[in-house]
Amino acid sequence: MNHLKRCWAEIDLSAVEYNLTEYKKLLPEGTELMCVVKAACYGHDDRIIAPFLQNELGVKYFAVSNFDEARRLRDMGIKGEILILGYTPPELAQQIADLDILQACTEYAYAEKLSQNTADTVRLHIAVDTGMTRIGIRADVSQTCDEIEKIAALPHISAEGIFTHYSSADGTDKSDDDYTRMQTEKFFAVRDMLDKRGLVLKHAHCLNSAGGAYKYSQRSTLARLGIILYGLYPDPAKPLPFVPKPVMTLKAVVSQVKTIEQGTAVSYGRTFVSPRPMRLATITAGYADGYPRALSNVGEVIINGSRCKIAGRVCMDQFMADVTDAGDVRPGDIAELMNKDITADHIAALTGTIGYEVTCLVTSRVSRITSSTVD
Ligand SMILES: *Cc1c(COP(=O)(O)O)cnc(C)c1O
Repeated sequence: MNHLKRCWAEIDLSAVEYNLTEYKKLLPEGTELMCVVKAACYGHDDRIIAPFLQNELGVKYFAVSNFDEARRLRDMGIKGEILILGYTPPELAQQIADLDILQACTEYAYAEKLSQNTADTVRLHIAVDTGMTRIGIRADVSQTCDEIEKIAALPHISAEGIFTHYSSADGTDKSDDDYTRMQTEKFFAVRDMLDKRGLVLKHAHCLNSAGGAYKYSQRSTLARLGIILYGLYPDPAKPLPFVPKPVMTLKAVVSQVKTIEQGTAVSYGRTFVSPRPMRLATITAGYADGYPRALSNVGEVIINGSRCKIAGRVCMDQFMADVTDAGDVRPGDIAELMNKDITADHIAALTGTIGYEVTCLVTSRVSRITSSTVD
C-alpha cells in the first residue's frame, strides 16, 4: 500500500482478533457480540476493521453513531445488522428503511415522526434511560412499558428491541457498582413487564465493553463491544480479566538530528532550555496529526528501542525529542509515538483525557494501514 512516510498509523488486525476472542470468552452463552465501529472505529479506520470483523471473525452485529457511518458500512459490504446508536433526522426514515438499518429510538414522539416519513418499515431499538440521563424513555417501569407499547403499535414501525446504556460500569467505587446494578435491574424489570404484557422483543441489551467485562448481566442479548476491541481500557484504573492488545501504532520519521549546546532554547515559547549539551531529533508529526500539544515537555517517543523525551512544545506538524542517550539516531529513522508500550491510555493520562479521545483525534491526514501491508 502506498502511503506517505511522514506520520501514519499501523492497524494490527491480529490484535483486533485477540481482543475480540478473549472478550467473547467472558460473555454468557446467550449474549452475542455487537461491535461498536462508530467514529471510524474510534479513529482506527472502519474500512480496514469492519470488513475484517465480518469476513474473518464472523461478526453479525455492528453499531455506529449516525446514518452516514451506517451507509459507509453498507457501501463497504457489511451485510449484518447495523444499529445507529445516535440521532438520525426523521426525514431520513425512508433511507433507513431502504438500507435495512436499525435505528435507536429516544421516545414516542420521535418514533411517530419516523413512522410518518416512510412508506415501508423502520426497525427500532428503543432506548430506555435507566440512569445515564442521555437518551431514552425516562419514567417508572410501568410508564416506560406503556410508551414502548405505543411505539410498537405505530404503523411503519417495527420495534425489535430495547437497550440501555451504563454510565459507570467502569467505575472503581462501590457506588459505581451499586449504580450499575440498579440500572441493570430497572432495565430488566422493563423487559419482564413487556414480556408479561405479551410484547416479546427479540433484543434487550445493556452491556458496553465494561458491562460485559465485569459481568453486569447474564441476560443481555447483545454486548456492545467498543473500546476493548481496540485494545484500550474503559478505565485503566480498573483491571480487566485479560490484558487487551492496543490495535494502533502511530509512527513518524526523524527528519533531522542536531547537536545543541547547553542553554539552547527549543521550539515555540522557549519552554525547554537544554540543561546540558544534547542530541535532538526533529520528528514529523504534530497536533495537526492529532498528536496532542499537551504532550509538550512531558511525552515520550521510542526511537530504535530507546525512550526519548519530548523537548519543548509540540508544533502543528513537528516536534523535537532528546535522543542524547538513544544511540546513533539518523534522519529517516522511525519514531513510535503510540504503541503497545506508550498506549493511548498512557497518553491520555499525561494529557488529562481518556484513551477513547486520543485515538479518535488522530486526524484524517494520517494514513491508516494494516501492519501486514507495511513495507
Ligand atoms: C459508544 C457506545 C458503546 C461502546 O462503549 P465502550 O465503552 O467503547 O465499549 C456502547 N453503547 C453505546 C450506546 C455507545 O454509545
